[in-house]
Amino acid sequence: MKVHEYQAKAFFAQYGVPVDRSVVCKTPDEAVEAYEKLGVDKAVVKAQVHTGGRGKAGGVKLGTSAAEIRSRAEAILGMNIKGFTVDRVLVGEAVDIASEYYVSILVDRKSKCPLMMLSREGGMDIEQVARETPEKIEKIVIDPLVGMTDFLAREAAFRLFDDMAQVKQAVPLFKNLYRLFIEKDASLAEINPLVKLKDGSLKAIDAKMTFDDNALFRHPDVAELFEPTAEERKEHEAKEKGFSYVNLGGEIGCMVNGAGLAMATMDMIKLYGGEPANFLDIGGSSNPEKIVEAMKLLLSDKHVNTVLINIFGGITRCDDVAKGLLEAFKVVETDIPIVIRLTGTNEEEGRKLLEGTQFHVGTSMADAGRKAVKLSLGK
Ligand code: GDP
Ligand code: MN
Repeated sequence: MKVHEYQAKAFFAQYGVPVDRSVVCKTPDEAVEAYEKLGVDKAVVKAQVHTGGRGKAGGVKLGTSAAEIRSRAEAILGMNIKGFTVDRVLVGEAVDIASEYYVSILVDRKSKCPLMMLSREGGMDIEQVARETPEKIEKIVIDPLVGMTDFLAREAAFRLFDDMAQVKQAVPLFKNLYRLFIEKDASLAEINPLVKLKDGSLKAIDAKMTFDDNALFRHPDVAELFEPTAEERKEHEAKEKGFSYVNLGGEIGCMVNGAGLAMATMDMIKLYGGEPANFLDIGGSSNPEKIVEAMKLLLSDKHVNTVLINIFGGITRCDDVAKGLLEAFKVVETDIPIVIRLTGTNEEEGRKLLEGTQFHVGTSMADAGRKAVKLSLGK
């Protein structure tokens, strides 16, 4: 789960990571009010969206008067950055930057540990640094059982700074950042840039955090910041109905019982040259309400032009599933072709029930896959 810069900065402040003073605003009036409240000459207006690269997209602008701040806020509010519409800006005191650094802690799959990344080439485009001059990014693996010890924090600080004045500030800063990362079950805590100001002090002027969705239940303060995209909202609603649903952007809607079978079904669609619209595991039961809900979910995706239902009847019997499907499709209205493959207990009886209906019945997984792809491609 992502949060906005201003929300990440609030966590930073709570954990003693120094940040610039700033106020989040929804209108140009509020931005002017914030500017006056900050009582500074120069301020920065920053778009708050769930994506990076705002600076390059024109979403970070400096202003030196109330009028200028107003026009900056007017320009940035409503702006579209990588598909996200800006509905909030952060107005912060502009700082006098001497140099910019990159610091992050993330979960590293390779070492299966938290990993700290540091670079003296902080600022706008760390991806470019990683691509072109990877030697300029320092990596420190942190043993989660030991944590961020003083010596490790000092080692990290010395990799970034030559001067003791900054090393002394960086050590507690890194320890606090790590504590925040661990205590809130974050998957990323990133400062880009961490700046050294002209007076030698360090400040995080940008903040990015993402959190482990599976740990949100123990962090209500994080969970309440959830602002789902349309897709995420759908996935969330599906979860509440007992489905696992992931949108994949293709044309063949899949309704499957069991996660393994669902994955195999998607692979098969790919194999025959089609594109799965989604992963959907409807779980064990075959009751018509569940099938209706699942169909509604699939059909709410306007890209779906074919539906493939692939059910393995183990404890649930195939004839029950077929009855459930027939029942469900009395309620769901659609002219989208539907391919059904039933296998397992009572599959013969199940298939018989579907004979002469609007459904295309697949006799095997491969047969159903081929049929669905053909229908989807309009062949
Ligand atoms: P991002 O592009 O989405 O990562 O947004 P950032 O918050 O990192 O801002 C991009 C760049 O704007 C930074 O690297 C800085 O160079 C600049 N910037 C941001 N805040 C300030 C500020 O207070 N003063 C000055 N002079 N520059 C700033
Ligand atoms: Mn940044």
